[in-house]
Amino acid sequence: MIVEMRRGAPPEQVDAVVNRATGFGFQTQLNRGTDKVVVAILGSDTGRCPTEAFAVLPGVETVTRIMRPYKLAAREFKPEPTLVSMGDVVVGGPRIVVMAGPCSVENPDLLMSTARHVTSCGARVLRGGAYKPRSSPFSFQGLGVSGLQILGQARSELSVPVISEVTDPHLLDGMLDYVDVLQIGARNMQNYALLRAVGETGRACILKRGLAATVTEWLQAADYILAAGNPNVVLCERGIRTFEDSTRFTLDISAVGVVKRFSHLPIIVDPSHAAGHYALVPTLARAAVAAGADGLLIEVHPDPTNALSDGLQSLTFSDFQRLMAELRALAEAMGRSI
Ligand code: PEP
Ligand code: MN
Repeated sequence: MIVEMRRGAPPEQVDAVVNRATGFGFQTQLNRGTDKVVVAILGSDTGRCPTEAFAVLPGVETVTRIMRPYKLAAREFKPEPTLVSMGDVVVGGPRIVVMAGPCSVENPDLLMSTARHVTSCGARVLRGGAYKPRSSPFSFQGLGVSGLQILGQARSELSVPVISEVTDPHLLDGMLDYVDVLQIGARNMQNYALLRAVGETGRACILKRGLAATVTEWLQAADYILAAGNPNVVLCERGIRTFEDSTRFTLDISAVGVVKRFSHLPIIVDPSHAAGHYALVPTLARAAVAAGADGLLIEVHPDPTNALSDGLQSLTFSDFQRLMAELRALAEAMGRSI
């Protein structure tokens, strides 16, 4: 249930709404907008509580039930778009944020040279996996802590925010000193313990869409992070499983429009994991910008043929440079910039 307070309703009136909800055994979350407060009343059986119980309280403008399965990620709770800060970079505003780097951190030289190149081309956030969720236990699993240290070094030398994937709640403490943005990978979208733990850190995070998750399930997963008190959630469409096998996954470009319509959270697109092949990455990246995505997450490697993970879908330095020039022109045509 969503209780919208009148413009300028004093804090005592908001408190009275919260207290009544607590009295019924419900939880609450507040969205303090620029001119009014919205209170979400949360619980498994709010349906049994009449809306009048809140409508009669002073300062209450409207009481509406959110019929969708997700609540805090819904536009009804927060009509204005959410902006997520990653250091000085803001995701969800007029500037499209390109995040790029290798799939995995492999060694210091490789990461530094990639970081220098992608930032010189206009990427504003650096990516690199230190813990890799690989389909096979025999594949390269990432450098772990030393990978994080290498990312930390690039971050301080180039003053660029860094993203890295967290695969287990126990790793979080060790990551927070090195990483600005926590990535929750597609395979962990419904790892609820991990979602809660990332929520508790309050750190900016990227929630990738699960391989076979509907947009509704994805937004419910976002609710776990939001409910733990972390509003800094960026959604990332990275392709889903379909019958089509000419790409690694099928990029669901319509998810960009669907998320914009039903949620206030920013959405970015990862064309690399969807395409699975470098030749298709530019097509999908351009489509994402044209569809209105707030950012892109792109894998770039100085020597893709020898990459320890995802070489086939990684762009070379020159391919990335060319793509960035195209995306800049496209962003401008969309009334945005990169
Ligand atoms: C990655 O970003 O390297 C990754 C493993 O992505 P996904 O979770 O989308 O497969
Ligand atoms: Mn990868």
